[in-house]
Amino acid sequence: MDRIGEVPDRYLSEEQRLMRETCRRYVDDVVRPFIAANREREWLFDPGGRLPAEILQEADRTGLRGLGVPDEYGGVGLDPATQAQTFSIIATEIARGDSGLADKLVQNWKISVLLRALAPRHLQDEWFPRYMADPQFLMAHCLTEPRGASDRWLPYNVPEANMDTRAVHEDGHWKINGRKQFISNGYDASLYVVYANTDRSVGMLAGTSSFLVPRDTPGLEVTRCNETVGGRYMNNGEIVFEDCAVPEDHLLAHGDALRKAGVYFRPGKIIQAAKNLGIGIAALDDTAAFVQERVQGGRILIKHQAVAVRVAAMATKLEAVSALLRHAALAVDDNHPDATRLCDMVKVFASQEILEVCQHAVELHGGYGAMLEVGVEKYFRDAAVYLHMDATVDVSNFKIAKSMFPSTAGAYAGPE
Ligand SMILES: Cc1cc2nc3c(=O)[nH]c(=O)nc-3n(C[C@H](O)[C@H](O)[C@H](O)COP(=O)(O)OP(=O)(O)OC[C@H]3O[C@@H](n4cnc5c(N)ncnc54)[C@H](O)[C@@H]3O)c2cc1C
Repeated sequence: MDRIGEVPDRYLSEEQRLMRETCRRYVDDVVRPFIAANREREWLFDPGGRLPAEILQEADRTGLRGLGVPDEYGGVGLDPATQAQTFSIIATEIARGDSGLADKLVQNWKISVLLRALAPRHLQDEWFPRYMADPQFLMAHCLTEPRGASDRWLPYNVPEANMDTRAVHEDGHWKINGRKQFISNGYDASLYVVYANTDRSVGMLAGTSSFLVPRDTPGLEVTRCNETVGGRYMNNGEIVFEDCAVPEDHLLAHGDALRKAGVYFRPGKIIQAAKNLGIGIAALDDTAAFVQERVQGGRILIKHQAVAVRVAAMATKLEAVSALLRHAALAVDDNHPDATRLCDMVKVFASQEILEVCQHAVELHGGYGAMLEVGVEKYFRDAAVYLHMDATVDVSNFKIAKSMFPSTAGAYAGPE
């Protein structure tokens, strides 16, 4: 029988089946044992020492870091016709092991896709080999600022909603000033994609540019690692740019950076929902084992109908998320006009349904559901974080409605 929530083998290409098998071995042999042995460690260790180097080294050995990197640089050149589907299958499997680790790897894949599409040849020649040579090399993309991210996701295309971070062209460089927060991999990345305003007179769709900024660029300072409730093996960070001078040839997109970002934002939402699904599959696996072993009222829990109904609801939710995810991933790979809307739909649906799956898991474990050493509470925490990542539930819903009623639902809310 197929595992509930997973794309059945019969729908996978040979390449996808082999990749999932490799990934599954990595998750079952390396990731899950590490997580199980270190349930309290994620709260005790400083950010730099939280995830041992061997975990990423092993991901490297299995080829998981090279997804999205072109073949010529030693990456795993995915078939573009099925790329979003493949990302989705792999991301689900890794997040079944740990969603924070999945976040870490996924940011690298997404940024590799962006660089492959937008970076000039000399930047690809410089950075892909450096990335591939170092298993600990992480990448991050910096969009969110203290003033908020929702305006960027919608996006309100008026000058007053522009990004506060600015880049000014001076003496052969772009000088960046501003602050980015809540950035995945932000604390320990070696390379950043930074979005900044380059024209105050127009809205963000025409006035936002993107830059490739190496971590050691003078004026770039990582100021903190955010302590998050879930996904704690990914170090989320805050970065300040003070007269940070980036060579002008490190420009990725001028003015229309947000439009061009669709190349990785769309697969990004698929991957986001896929990671969510992986958390839910793990929560169901643990719960299925528990309810068939734990005895109350003289019988194992699954023999109590109220328990069985909850387990059935968990399974149905996983299948529903999985089906919408596959539908949306197919639309992205086909470049279908509905793809963006479907991506928002599955991102929202997955975040809400999987949180409920995890709530069932916590409740069905009784008191054990609240214990760190059991690990079910971790699924709930990890799922909670995904309500906000890659846009909030309400903002994503607004985007869905906006795409359905572009001339009425899309109006700018206006400044205070
Ligand atoms: C774990 C984690 C990882 C992240 N990783 C990254 C990353 O790698 N890079 C990056 O750039 N960002 C990242 N983010 C930021 C994330 O994208 C934002 O937190 C998210 O988009 C919400 O933005 P905000 O926090 O500024 O909240 P706000 O935009 O201030 O929203 C606050 C509330 O207001 C609501 N709201 C806002 N505008 C409207 C509106 N017009 N109509 C109705 N309701 C509205 C929102 O739905 C929300 O409920 C990450 C966040 C988290 C938690």
